[in-house]
Amino acid sequence: MPRYWSEVVHRLTPYVPGEQPQHPNLVKLNTNENPWPPSPKVLEAIAAATDDRLRLYPDPDSTRLKQALADYFGLKVENVFVGNGSDEVLAHAFQALLKHDAPLLFPDISYSFYPVYCNLFEIDYRIVPLRDDFSLVLADFDQPNGGIIFPNPNAPTGRAVSRADIEALLQRNPDSVVVVDEAYVDFGAESAVPMIARYDNLLVVQTFSKSRSLAGLRLGYALGAPELIEALVRVKDSFNSYPIDRLAEAAGIASIGDEPYFQDVRDRVMRERERVTQALTGLGFEVLPSKANFVFTRPPRPAEVVMQALRERGIIVRHFKAPRIRNWLRITIGAPHENDALLTALEEIVSEAG
Ligand code: PMP
Repeated sequence: MPRYWSEVVHRLTPYVPGEQPQHPNLVKLNTNENPWPPSPKVLEAIAAATDDRLRLYPDPDSTRLKQALADYFGLKVENVFVGNGSDEVLAHAFQALLKHDAPLLFPDISYSFYPVYCNLFEIDYRIVPLRDDFSLVLADFDQPNGGIIFPNPNAPTGRAVSRADIEALLQRNPDSVVVVDEAYVDFGAESAVPMIARYDNLLVVQTFSKSRSLAGLRLGYALGAPELIEALVRVKDSFNSYPIDRLAEAAGIASIGDEPYFQDVRDRVMRERERVTQALTGLGFEVLPSKANFVFTRPPRPAEVVMQALRERGIIVRHFKAPRIRNWLRITIGAPHENDALLTALEEIVSEAG
């Protein structure tokens, strides 16, 4: 006889994160982490905050971090929400901001956490197919909705949409919250942030995990009109009023303060992305134009075979089983020596087939 709590186990199908193997010698190109370390100033700030103040709770409002983000983006502190990774910020947005009398819309190939949140919060949703070339055409979202969310650049495709297209979408949907998930925006896409002052239905979500090399800290944020931000705060304070710990807050402020380091790392990733794209193309791979810190690529041999062959050589990349993308791999851009190892291995794997 099932107990009443068994129902949760049956109802929820959680997100399955990319593998985090603990083996140190792997070339890990599967979860879009940054291959370069965080800024030395971040490490110093964490060390400086590591003292007996850790017995005290952190500032529940993370005001200093929010102020640093507000100054950086030319916004006010009322426009900023911070959370424990952008996954948590997105979870709060799903709970706080979506209408329940019409479906939430998001692309069929996009961040697989979206349907998981819908399931958790019992939100009705409808997926909007990408075009054949995996482009996301925002005019396809012109249908009754209770909110719209998409990553820009999209994940796992890496393709980006323009700010002008997002603006047109905002204009056509003044009564829906439009959430732009900009986890990868710093690697060359156009951010929607400059439109926040003009559109009170726009929420932009960003993270310290990718371009700022801080996935291990869990720090994300949302930028938007004060009422949207207040809605997120109400959910947060009903759930966990201290999401940002003292060390993460100190690190976040230091990261925002080190612009030269941020730009240097971002540029390195983008340069390596162009090099990897060219080399893959030369090996007969189809590569989508990427504005992210990964490439989405179709190998000349079955993707799952290539993924396994890489694995046997100690290189891990991401393969998705969804039918439409099962012939594709998502490969994170690593450090130059990691990308070299990847390309050498792929050259071997491709020639084995011949
Ligand atoms: N959005 C997208 C599109 C992502 O790919 C990720 C990373 N898996 C996230 C949000 C969440 O990133 P984090 O929680 O590390 O900020």
